[in-house]
Amino acid sequence: MAAQETVDHKYVYDFAEGNKDLKDLLGGKGANLAEMTNLGLPVPPGFTITTEACKAYLATGEEPAGLADQIAAHLADLEREMGRRLGDPADPLLVSVRSGAKFSMPGMMETVLNVGLNDRSVVGLSAQAGGNDRFAWDSYRRLIQMFGKTVCEVPGEQFEHALDEAKRAKGTTNDLDLDADDLRGLVDAYKKIFLTHTGREFPQEPREQLDLAIRAVFESWNAERAVLYRRQERIPADLGTAVNVVSMVFGNLGPDSGTGVAFTRDPGSGAQGIYGDYLANAQGEDVVAGIRNTVPLQELERLDKKSYEQLLDFMARLEGHYKDLCDIEFTIERGKLWMLQTRVGKRTAAAAFVIAGQLVDEGLIDLDEALHRVNGAQLAQLMFPRFQLDHEFQPVAKGIGASPGAASGKVVFTSARAVELAAEGTAVILVRRETNPDDLNGMIAAKGILTSRGGKTSHAAVVARGMGKTCVSGADELDVNIPAKKFAVGEHVVTEGDIVSIDGTTGKVYLGEVPVMPSEVVQYFEGSVDPEHIDNALVRAVHRIMTHADATRRLAVRTNADTGADAARARRFGAEGIGLCRTEHMFLGDRRELVERLILARTDGERADALAALLPLQRADFIEIFREMDGLPVTVRLIDPPLHEFLPPLEQLAVNVAVAQERGEDVAKEEALLAAVRRMHEENPMLGLRGVRLGLVIPGLFAMQVRAITEAAVAVTRDGAVAKPEIMVPLVGAVQELETVRAEAEKIIAEVVGDSGVEVLIGTMIEVPRAALTAGQIAEAAQFFSFGTNDLTQMGWGFSRDDVEGAFFWRYLELGIFGISPFESIDRDGVGRLVRIAAEEGRAARPELKLGVCGEHGGDPDSVHFFHEVGLDYVSCSPFRVPVARLEAGRAAVETDGSDSR
Ligand code: PEP
Ligand code: MG
Repeated sequence: MAAQETVDHKYVYDFAEGNKDLKDLLGGKGANLAEMTNLGLPVPPGFTITTEACKAYLATGEEPAGLADQIAAHLADLEREMGRRLGDPADPLLVSVRSGAKFSMPGMMETVLNVGLNDRSVVGLSAQAGGNDRFAWDSYRRLIQMFGKTVCEVPGEQFEHALDEAKRAKGTTNDLDLDADDLRGLVDAYKKIFLTHTGREFPQEPREQLDLAIRAVFESWNAERAVLYRRQERIPADLGTAVNVVSMVFGNLGPDSGTGVAFTRDPGSGAQGIYGDYLANAQGEDVVAGIRNTVPLQELERLDKKSYEQLLDFMARLEGHYKDLCDIEFTIERGKLWMLQTRVGKRTAAAAFVIAGQLVDEGLIDLDEALHRVNGAQLAQLMFPRFQLDHEFQPVAKGIGASPGAASGKVVFTSARAVELAAEGTAVILVRRETNPDDLNGMIAAKGILTSRGGKTSHAAVVARGMGKTCVSGADELDVNIPAKKFAVGEHVVTEGDIVSIDGTTGKVYLGEVPVMPSEVVQYFEGSVDPEHIDNALVRAVHRIMTHADATRRLAVRTNADTGADAARARRFGAEGIGLCRTEHMFLGDRRELVERLILARTDGERADALAALLPLQRADFIEIFREMDGLPVTVRLIDPPLHEFLPPLEQLAVNVAVAQERGEDVAKEEALLAAVRRMHEENPMLGLRGVRLGLVIPGLFAMQVRAITEAAVAVTRDGAVAKPEIMVPLVGAVQELETVRAEAEKIIAEVVGDSGVEVLIGTMIEVPRAALTAGQIAEAAQFFSFGTNDLTQMGWGFSRDDVEGAFFWRYLELGIFGISPFESIDRDGVGRLVRIAAEEGRAARPELKLGVCGEHGGDPDSVHFFHEVGLDYVSCSPFRVPVARLEAGRAAVETDGSDSR
């Protein structure tokens, strides 16, 4: 039964049978050849063997039953259509055998040209070509070379050496100087190489050549470079390749022949016009090999006006049909134009926006479709300053591109030095092994941050992304020596004051200054371009598409911002509120001393004094933020990290105390501090006394913050602005935790709000798996949920967020356990499921529950689509990712046809 089904399966499609929508089955090349054939364009006739045949072959090592017969039948049709038989000695049909997967994998798989040539048909080919012996023998030697290398794994250099040898004997370096006799001699040499390496003669039987070439193309799907490329590009490994068998046309038959590539618009800038290259008297592989210089496509008008005009006509037709930039390969054989390939062309990020805008103007697509044609990753690329790397800049190290952008500056090793030099107007790069909250001022002052340890969610990475600052983390080739103020990399030693340049997109580190260009798209978002008078085509297109995304999206976009300046910038970038204001930085700098007093307090009175001193400072911070966010909601999270993070490191303190004791100094205060640090030391601080736990253990701490937030809101409201505070409790795992905090908070709020009209919401982060699983209960006590997907990922997977990415994720990625770090893009099946459960159960318990996300995933394009699907109300991300999230939220909405998936 199964065998019968396989026999009946259709594995081979004539070009006239397929169409562009059959890419899964026919691969991109095959589907588009079929489409062009059906459009009536001159495609050399042929057929496509499906990806299913390939998969069946790869699974069993044998051609599936029925394939050989189907190939024979289609070949017979092809021979009839062409009026020639494959390898006929008198008048041979020759074919090319070309790979073509669903997704383009340029140069990764195999192609064999001129199949059907042998010792006898080479003579027939010469006759076909008007007695052009040279051409016929050149085609034959190319077949043996490609076939030998591709099908029989003969080392390619052997053929190259023989070719060089022939040229040397002739006293030339140019292939074209070899005449027919030279090439006939080369064919003999190639056959000997073939025999030596394979132990058999070069196959003379055309059908055997064809079958072996098809097999080789199937197998090339699993060639090492193809496997690596797929991993890199995240192309699934199980798609298989189709094989296209196409009748040969020749661009190397003389000056009235040639080959070229063409783009219907400039794939670099998107500008309208004709772009491409042409090479007379050559085959496609010569262009790739760069044997001779191509000429601009426009030259073809002079060389062969008829073909040129025809080509322009075909290009216009293809663009109108595909409604997109097309790239095309063509060959002219003695004045006759043949279309060998087309596809929707790859393009730069800038071109993607410009072209989408143009196509809307031209009425080819609507704005919804324009949203499909661009994506957040492209927009993000356009927002970073870029290096002008035209000169010979070689990277000295490569770390993780943790926060994109390009920055050059003098190397400094401490936060204090960064601040000092920046105050003098010097651009600095702060280099650390890793950063901690103490480095914040230095990070703010620096143009970029470079660390030798840590992954994409390390402190340096998260904070830098939050600031939109360039950061390369985990550059482990750097041996950083902070006390000596230097780092070594390879044979170089870089000391304080030396200039380095870092690329936060690629993770590359350069010595010396690489010139940087600002982004005109950021200037637009910053508001320095009048949307009514935009003279830059790219900015015009971005404006248009973003306006449509905003009109279409259902998800609101907020920002994670902890300062007035960040809030203001995010607002200009389109943020509709703050989704996460982390309050921990408000405990740093000169406030550290107050925190120490808080921790060391021996009596309630001492603790109350310390908190009272912190209160006005916090209030001032919140006033600034509420003012900037006038009229928009601001979610303020109560303090989350363990308090000992605000104390000096244990080792350093112990040494200081020991030294001071030795000197006989009074160290009572330091000793008390040291005792406190020892007392608070935790093996697993991430799972320790932080978040709500801290609030429940240190009396008055959360109360002080709640009071500061509410007083700030009332003050701002009295000044005529509108403050919309939302107080968020971190790390809740049980509703009782939230209820306890809430009861105390509500009392304070009621007392402070008075008749000011200020309304304060109280909600919680959902970042502990237990909270997600008991969301129904927690929703009873929460007016909103904000998913902390950083911790939810950490605790859902049991992955320490500070360590694992640098430590072993490379192996997980290599093994395909996941295709992308779950800290970067939401793990839909696991962590995503927790989000889904919590959203559903939370809403079931409290229908008006507001749902948002404020983990790093809030600005990740794919995750934004997921949050749209789950039905959240908003995503919150760092200011620089706000436009990306707006765009992706719009794209998610048009993908689901605006339907509410809630
Ligand atoms: C989170 O855990 O996702 C979150 C936003 O909180 P933080 O990153 O501050 O732990
Ligand atoms: Mg968290």
